[in-house]
Amino acid sequence: MIKIPQADLRAQYETIKDEIIPAITAVIEKTQFVRGSATRQFEEDFARYCETEHAVAVGNGTDALLLALRAVGIGEGDEVITTPFTFTATGEAIHWVGAKPVFVDIDENNYTIDASKIEAAITDKTRAIIPVHLYGHPAEMDAILSIARKHDLKVIEDAAQAHGALYKGKKVGQFGHVACFSFYPGKNLGAYGDAGGVVSNDAKIADNVRRLGDHGSSKKYENDMMGFNSRMDGIQGAVLNIKLKHLPAWTKRRREIAAYYDDAFKDVAAVQTPRESSWAEGVYHLYVVQVDERDSVKQKLNEAGIGAAIHYPRPLHLQKSYGFLGLGRGSFPVAERAGDRVMSLPNYPEMTEGMLAEVVATVKKVV
Ligand SMILES: *Cc1c(COP(=O)(O)O)cnc(C)c1O
Repeated sequence: MIKIPQADLRAQYETIKDEIIPAITAVIEKTQFVRGSATRQFEEDFARYCETEHAVAVGNGTDALLLALRAVGIGEGDEVITTPFTFTATGEAIHWVGAKPVFVDIDENNYTIDASKIEAAITDKTRAIIPVHLYGHPAEMDAILSIARKHDLKVIEDAAQAHGALYKGKKVGQFGHVACFSFYPGKNLGAYGDAGGVVSNDAKIADNVRRLGDHGSSKKYENDMMGFNSRMDGIQGAVLNIKLKHLPAWTKRRREIAAYYDDAFKDVAAVQTPRESSWAEGVYHLYVVQVDERDSVKQKLNEAGIGAAIHYPRPLHLQKSYGFLGLGRGSFPVAERAGDRVMSLPNYPEMTEGMLAEVVATVKKVV
């Protein structure tokens, strides 16, 4: 039986091995283990890639969110609006700066926060909105930004899954006051360990993030404020420098794969393919369909060697860790329905046409 995994980092490594090994060796020989020249180079190149003025390399995507929230002044007693249909890190970062996550349901077509429902959730404690560009599909930024301006709120983009995604032709990450990326190995741009990044067009916010992530200091042993230890490793900077050069080609391939699936399933009523909003050119971190009886479909696909997966089976408000919010089933029906029906099909740039045909044939048989 052939096996087609959800993603295959080994296959990607084989294509870039000859570049990666010497770059990692150089970091070790220079003993620039934490930050250093490779990381600085990556900050420069990643800012250019995101069409922003500044980028700061940090320890991981969760820290990126936490530092960004702190850097724009969010803390104890504040409320931050976000989506319950995301990876838990979005809510955790809000919690650990001392603020309260306030959820707003998602749009049923693109799984990002439903901008038309945000204003109803605003109170006199609301200080910020975190839209999540889930699966690599940009949220409806113009509507979100106009609400934020009206109510004087900060906007922090969670772009952890959306490196290079376009909103009305411009890269995500440049719309909010600040934006956060994850370079976890499985993300579209992934390091060889944990890593994250923050981008902004505001020099003061970027500087705040940089200092907060380095013990509150801009000069060694001079501590301006209480900070954290969240700096990118030199090795991760070197790996990301190389991979960033390949990212446009990989993104193009992810979109080709998405188009292949879209076409293959267009006459299959049992498979609802993703819908790209009019403003969006997504980067398909995940290719997510909806099916009836999702759990049994997924299990049959897995038994047939197809790495179908679920992102995410349970919205945050139904997780035990968010129980303190006291929100039950029925609070966010669109997110809950998505949680019951979504299924991610294998989608990574190294997939061959043969593998795609095999996935399609097996899905058609199973549904
Ligand atoms: C991966 C991810 C994060 C957290 O990133 P880490 O690097 O794993 O800490 C945050 N938000 C979303 C939407 C993610 O997918």
